[in-house]
Amino acid sequence: PRVDNPYVGATVYNNPQWKALATAEPGGSRIANQPTGVWFDSISSIAGNSSPTTGSMGMVDHLNAAVTQDAANGSAALTVQFVIYDLPGRDCAALASNGELGPTDLPRYKTEYIDPIAAILARPAYANLRIVTIIEIDSLPNLVTNVAGRPTETAVCNTMLANRGYVEGVGYALAKFGAIGNVYNYLDAAHHGWVGWDDNFGATANMMFSAATASGSVASNVTGFITDTANYSALTEPYVGPVTEQLRQTTWIDWNRYNDELTFAQAFRSRLVTAGFPSNIGMLIDTSRNGWGGPNRPTAASTSTDPNTFVNQSRIDRRIHKGNWCNQSGAGLGERPRAAPASGIDAYVWIKPPGESDGSSTAIPNNEGKGFDRMCDPTYTGNARNGNSMSGALPNSPLSGHWFSAQFQQLMANAYPAL
Ligand code: BGC
Repeated sequence: PRVDNPYVGATVYNNPQWKALATAEPGGSRIANQPTGVWFDSISSIAGNSSPTTGSMGMVDHLNAAVTQDAANGSAALTVQFVIYDLPGRDCAALASNGELGPTDLPRYKTEYIDPIAAILARPAYANLRIVTIIEIDSLPNLVTNVAGRPTETAVCNTMLANRGYVEGVGYALAKFGAIGNVYNYLDAAHHGWVGWDDNFGATANMMFSAATASGSVASNVTGFITDTANYSALTEPYVGPVTEQLRQTTWIDWNRYNDELTFAQAFRSRLVTAGFPSNIGMLIDTSRNGWGGPNRPTAASTSTDPNTFVNQSRIDRRIHKGNWCNQSGAGLGERPRAAPASGIDAYVWIKPPGESDGSSTAIPNNEGKGFDRMCDPTYTGNARNGNSMSGALPNSPLSGHWFSAQFQQLMANAYPAL
């Protein structure tokens, strides 16, 4: 039987490949033992493909290493965090993480990606591990917010909504993994600066329920949801305070009901239960890069009586716009991973491994299916999804998933809590 929260009483798997990259950086040994998500971003990554993104270790290698870490751990359980990320038509509203499967490749997703993963996870040798799966970042929220009827629509998101590739793919994954008693499925729920508006909040919860009950799955296959994966939204905004009607009208908050991940995640949890999910679902928050410490972090609330000035001087999230998502300049490591930090929250986790790029700042030819998204170009002036703002991206970044030393160094320098 599953435990309610797979992070309680557990040590979390430290990826040896990420550890080696972090350790090789000056100062990196301060965080190299932290648990981070292990991403399987292609069919070949299951066996191990020696790409610069996923390295030489395949899923079996990671699970064997996890068994070894478990044995060294004494009585604590061992939780591993695997990211399931290869949907057909992946990343439909952006280009930096487009993948190998085209929009009509749902059959391949099922038989060449999900089925082999499920067969590995079900091996008796791994039955004592707690296996957390983080399922398909950004996919279902894109079907709500970036489709026809919205100024942000894209052709691929329209296609993936119409052909049900995401919904059936996620449902299939949940059904397969849900049948394995030591697997804990968490669906990706974007972040407050995406789903927190009234138009998106309930509609996204209902979309999650549709997917969780597609392809023969049932809602109880879902242990919970994760917010802020690979994003930068602040966990809390200590100097802005509750989102009053007046603050909702500021340019930064822009009518959103939420201004931080913690209150959003807790409220969205309740809305998901209303949508039909079990009342004991728990939330994860990816705090790998949302610390916003360093010299530019405000230390007190602004005294301005102008609401826009007040928010802009008080907020710790220093982005130009909340729609900015690529290699954000000025970001820092956030809360260190830990279990049960707040009501309704199963854990703070580092799913996006700090130091791995979100996308390249210029076009780079590659055989990983990755495109060039100008949101990663520091000279880009934006589009409807970021309020036509500058991208705020760091320069000279490599392809998504590749090691970005300059970003890793900045994340450590701006860590909050500080290292
Ligand atoms: C990339 C993946 C990578 C992951 C973790 C994503 O943006 O598309 O290939 O594994 O980030 O760094």
